[in-house]
Amino acid sequence: MFNFRFGRRLATAEESYDFPPFRPPSEADSLLLRVSRGCPWNRCAFCPMYKGFKFEKRQVPDIKRDIDTARTYIGGNAETVFIGDSDSLVINTGQMCEVLGHLHGVFPSLTRVTSYARALTLKRKSLKSLKKIMEAGLTRLHIGLETGSGRLLERIRKGAGVDTMILGCGNAREAGFEVSLYVLLGIGGEADWQEHASETAKVLNEIDPDFIRVRTLVPVPGTPVFQWWKEGSFEMPGPDAILREQRVLIESLSVTSQYLSDHVSNYAPVHGNLPADKTNMLSMIDTVLERISKDEEFKADLENMRYLRRL
Ligand code: SF4
Repeated sequence: MFNFRFGRRLATAEESYDFPPFRPPSEADSLLLRVSRGCPWNRCAFCPMYKGFKFEKRQVPDIKRDIDTARTYIGGNAETVFIGDSDSLVINTGQMCEVLGHLHGVFPSLTRVTSYARALTLKRKSLKSLKKIMEAGLTRLHIGLETGSGRLLERIRKGAGVDTMILGCGNAREAGFEVSLYVLLGIGGEADWQEHASETAKVLNEIDPDFIRVRTLVPVPGTPVFQWWKEGSFEMPGPDAILREQRVLIESLSVTSQYLSDHVSNYAPVHGNLPADKTNMLSMIDTVLERISKDEEFKADLENMRYLRRL
């Protein structure tokens, strides 16, 4: 059987269950349900996630069968569900509502159902459709903003500019979803980290999402960013530059959001509710920066480990 929360096979296989291959760290305890396969865009220069998949919308009866299968293994008491893959809101609104209706019928104690979504899809979808989906029981959307710089969004081939990000996320908020935005620290490189930080803060201020989640860029072989890095046209910022970038970002934010560094790629576990915790968050970054400036071994550890475990 499978572990329906982690997508891992345990002992005997229930081969027909279709697991999403990725989930946000915050969905570690959620039941995983695949509504589509792959990414309909699949061109972001930093992203290795769905490169081997052809995008497909799954058939509603197959999705319902997976929901029923999960019920037979884990019982009816699931509280949270994550829907994959990268942009399942591209499926027909009626079909999405049918899936959500079945999901809530089989697991009546659900308190949170989340999905990845692209800002372009949220901009294209009507507010009426988004509201229907929210009322059918999808509660939170995880959206990749990555950066608020229009120039950088174009360079990394995000397939959505600043206006699309603001409009798409604004529609999601207006429809009633919790909005969780991902920011990619380091994507401006050494050359453009200040532009990345300040422009990202401006877009976040405009959207005022419920959650801001940061991850640090790790160039992955096979991606264009990795190629740019190897060729020397992109210089990956070191730990001190990433932390300075994060400092400028946080300092420039005027949002009412929860800020989380809930990814293993990050150098410092900077978390807090904004604006209340801003001073503490900045002071934590200053502490790490000061130590980096005085302790070469510590800096080398960070370079090697890519995340901070010592503090
Ligand atoms: S970052 Fe998201 S939208 Fe871009 S290719 Fe990867 S999965 Fe698709």
